[in-house]
Amino acid sequence: MLKILQIPVLTDNYIYLIHDVDSKQTAVVDPAEAKPVLDALKKYGWRLHFILNTHHHSDHVGGNLELKKQTGCKIIASGSDNHRIPGIDIAVRDRSYFQLGSHPISIIATSGHTLGHIVYYFEDDDLLFCGDTLFALGCGRLFEGSAEQLWESLQKLKNLPENTKVYCAHEYTLNNGKFALSVEPDNQALQSRMASIIQLRENKQSTVPSTIGEELATNPFFRENSASIQQHLKMQNKKPVEIFAALRKLKDSF
Ligand code: ZN
Ligand code: FE
Repeated sequence: MLKILQIPVLTDNYIYLIHDVDSKQTAVVDPAEAKPVLDALKKYGWRLHFILNTHHHSDHVGGNLELKKQTGCKIIASGSDNHRIPGIDIAVRDRSYFQLGSHPISIIATSGHTLGHIVYYFEDDDLLFCGDTLFALGCGRLFEGSAEQLWESLQKLKNLPENTKVYCAHEYTLNNGKFALSVEPDNQALQSRMASIIQLRENKQSTVPSTIGEELATNPFFRENSASIQQHLKMQNKKPVEIFAALRKLKDSF
């Protein structure tokens, strides 16, 4: 059994601690800072074995070296970011595979936000730790890759089982939802999801995780096939990737 702890840090980042009760192994995803992670480890009496980094941005790797120094954990990250992720021990790439205790984890390369971005998919547990590639009701900005690359990356995530829980790295959902409603105002699933998101944020509660199924129904970056979105963009006869690129561009200035 896995226990998952969500730790809010910085302005709107989430760090995730994943603890396997049977093997007592613990991993942390994208430690922006070391201290909140060390505090949580102490509180629960867990020992840290692995850091799982999704990409090189400082709000995802800021705690790497301090945590390694304090705990002796191993750092797992994209081999193509060897030169810019501090302290890598195990370099992985698309379809690399390892385990936390007996729980299989597969790596999916998702370039777009950055070129070396990867996500961690716990295939037997239906959990996805997707960093800044996919957000609740949104997707990452294109800092290094092209719209085509990010679109292709998102197609891989779209095909995961619908009950997969989506643990993204930022609480961006409310703003993402406002954009989503602006391009697909008549989507009823989106309207009701937004109502509960507004409620959660009013109570300062997290809106993450969501599921792949919810994202398929409401996230505009998964919905290039929506007639309503196509009509809104006046792009009825365009390819999905072109509609995606237009949505990403619109969102940049929203
Ligand atoms: Zn980032
Ligand atoms: Fe980030």
